[in-house]
Amino acid sequence: MKTTTDRILNFSAGPATLPEPVLHQAQQDLWDISKSGIGICEHSHRGPVFDKIIQEATANCRLVGSIPEEFEILFLQGGATLQFAMLAMNFLQEGETANYLDTGVWATKSIQEAKKIGSVHLAFDGSVSNYSYCPSDEELKAVEDSAAYLHYCSNNTIYGTRFDKYLERKMPTICDMSSDMFSRTIDWDAFDMVYAGAQKNLGPSGVVLVVIRKTMLDKCSDILPVMLNYNAIAKKGSMLNTPPTFGIYLVGEVFKWMLSQGGLQEIEANNEHKAGMVYNALESCGDFYTTFAQVESRSRMNIAFKTRSPELDAVFLEESTTLGMSGLKGHRNLGGLRASIYNAFPTEGCARFSEFLQSFASKH
Ligand code: PMP
Repeated sequence: MKTTTDRILNFSAGPATLPEPVLHQAQQDLWDISKSGIGICEHSHRGPVFDKIIQEATANCRLVGSIPEEFEILFLQGGATLQFAMLAMNFLQEGETANYLDTGVWATKSIQEAKKIGSVHLAFDGSVSNYSYCPSDEELKAVEDSAAYLHYCSNNTIYGTRFDKYLERKMPTICDMSSDMFSRTIDWDAFDMVYAGAQKNLGPSGVVLVVIRKTMLDKCSDILPVMLNYNAIAKKGSMLNTPPTFGIYLVGEVFKWMLSQGGLQEIEANNEHKAGMVYNALESCGDFYTTFAQVESRSRMNIAFKTRSPELDAVFLEESTTLGMSGLKGHRNLGGLRASIYNAFPTEGCARFSEFLQSFASKH
């Protein structure tokens, strides 16, 4: 994944770096798409041009993710945050309990939303270990087997932790993959629904990708407003109302780009390589840097770390900025520093960053 220009190295956690070929194509298609004489944002969602775009985006999504036919692919709105509430509205009925794993801020928010709808059983409380790791199957003894579903977040954007292995499915399993969707291969047997806000690995903000097992759709309650009902949305092919046409178009272009990169296996291997470079550089500097995540839970997408002091972190930000690097400030909840290196973040950017980590440590 080479950059062809000398753009700023953007380490933002999301919205985040997009593939350069996709951005170039979008510039052209904003003006005139498919030689229609009309730009992508100006086409009716009911016309043939957009129809082809959404059909292709869906087909390429299935191809990229090797998504089995038993799953429906939906493009929704309202961010991943709306999913926190919506999934509970659809799948947590009166008298039922859902298992939740609290692995950090976004997981906590999903729990807070679900509690407004029904009963939540906390099967893992990461707050006692400062959210520095994600639990394994063995640690989840407290899972309630009779629960309506299990919800967890595969990659914790703020802390830079991830589930190294997907959990074994003992009940309907729903996963927030917002910050690592399509960064690694997915074992679909382990899930009944996954969702991701697009603005990290998939495209611009404003679109949420939902991949849901068709048997789950039968459980959706008809008394829900249609815009909150997965089944109603699936029946209309994500076009119950005017969908976010530009977002869906761009996500479709990102899927094409992923295929051109060799698909998820290649992308995963490259992500291992990129994150490996950065973690190695951090470790090579002795105790100058500390990573937030425990080693076995290290995210390949978000690397949260700090130097020896907040003052030195500030100098790190200043010096990195002068070298054309942006977005390295840690999340306000955690402080410190964070490098987000999603699929489209260039390999050579990770190499440049690794060199900087080492030279900064030597200098200070
Ligand atoms: N889940 C995770 C893991 C996230 O990182 C984020 C956003 N950073 C969200 C959910 C919330 O996403 P949105 O802003 O699209 O509602």
